[in-house]
Order: sequence, then C-alpha cells, then structure tokens
Amino acid sequence: MHLKRLEIQGFKSFANKIEINFESGITGVVGPNGSGKSNISDSIRWVLGEQSAKTLRGSKMEDVIFSGTTSRKPLGMAEVSITLDNSSKALPIDYGEVTITRRVYRSGESEYYLNKSSCRLKDVRELLMDTGIGKDGYSIIGQGKIDEILSNKSEDRRQIFEEAAGIVKYKTRKDEAEKKLSSTKENLLRVLDILNELE
Ligand code: ATP
Repeated sequence: MHLKRLEIQGFKSFANKIEINFESGITGVVGPNGSGKSNISDSIRWVLGEQSAKTLRGSKMEDVIFSGTTSRKPLGMAEVSITLDNSSKALPIDYGEVTITRRVYRSGESEYYLNKSSCRLKDVRELLMDTGIGKDGYSIIGQGKIDEILSNKSEDRRQIFEEAAGIVKYKTRKDEAEKKLSSTKENLLRVLDILNELE
C-alpha cells in the first residue's frame, strides 16, 4: 500500500496549509535543525490516532496546534489528512483511495473523517488493524524503536508478529465479546437477585 499524500494545516510549526505528494520509491526529508522534519512524522502518527501527547513530543494534546510566533497569532485548530492508495484493496473498504482526516480544536474537541465522512476513532483503528499502518504499527519505526523491539518482553514482541499475521482484528473482537459476555453475566446475576427478592 502506498502513502500518496499528506496535507497539514495548523499542526505544530505548519501554520499554513502544506501538501506533500509522495512518489513511489524512497522519499527523504531534509532540512536544518528545528525546521519541522520530525513534525511531519508526528503528523502521520497523529492522524493515525495517536492519543499520547508525550509520543508526539508535547505535554498535552493542545501542543499539536500551531502556538504562534513573534509575527503570527496562534491558531485555534489543527488538521491533518493522509491519503493512501488502496487499489490493492489492502484496506477493507470499497474505495481505491482512502483519506483519513483528524482535526482538533483548542477546546479539546476532536474529529475524525474517512473520505470526508465523519467517523469515530474506533472506525479508523479498525480500518487499519492488521495492516501495520496504525499508530502502533510497524510501518512507523521512530528513533529508539528498534532498541525497544529488541529489549522488550517476548509478550510485547508477539504483538508485532500478531499484527503482521493479521490476527489483531480477531483478538480485539474476541476481547470485546468477552467483555460483553461478562457484563451480561453480571446483569443476569442482578436480575436473579431482584427475582429472589420478589419471591
Ligand atoms: P532536528 O533536525 O533538530 O531533529 P526537526 O527538523 O526534526 O529538527 P522538529 O522537531 O520537527 O524539527 O520541529 C521543531 C520546531 O517545531 C521547533 O522550532 C518548534 O518551535 C516548532 N514547533 C513545535 N510545536 C509547535 C507548535 N505547536 N506551534 C509552533 N511551532 C511548533
């Protein structure tokens, strides 16, 4: 699957809208220190659903919104869109091109869109599950990630293999079903208690 396009507006140092089109092959991003190279990879993590401000090198999620400079006022909103070529149908959705958009306001309100239709973070996560693209996917190898993989417990390493094997979706559904089952069992117990009281 090919990352075709990245659009950023109001995210970190990118106050104005920028659009990066990725051609096939390798793309290198070069620039002086502090020019925003890492902010580009942060924007990709963020649009894929990253919830940890620390992973995005901030202390709170609001830190991803352009905070202004001496000559420019801070902005009230950050928006990032990523477009993936889905002609191989690697993503289980009936579109040849998939655009995921995330928007956040200073009020803390967050919005997600799939091909411009409003959706939940859960929908984005489910779409990307088992593709290696999600925020924890192995398609993003940040600084220190290799050390982390090598030194992690075998249980943690197993997650990477499970994602590659395409079984995370089924494990997640199983966990959800188990949670529902246990809350239904609790409800049943309460109903039985009430019935006993009434008898
Ligand atoms: P290096 O080569 O040193 O790793 P880099 O090119 O990767 O640098 P980044 O770390 O991506 O640079 O960008 C850092 C710049 O982004 C800093 O100048 C910082 O002030 C700016 N920046 C980060 N968050 C915001 C924000 N919310 N609003 C405005 N500017 C921001």
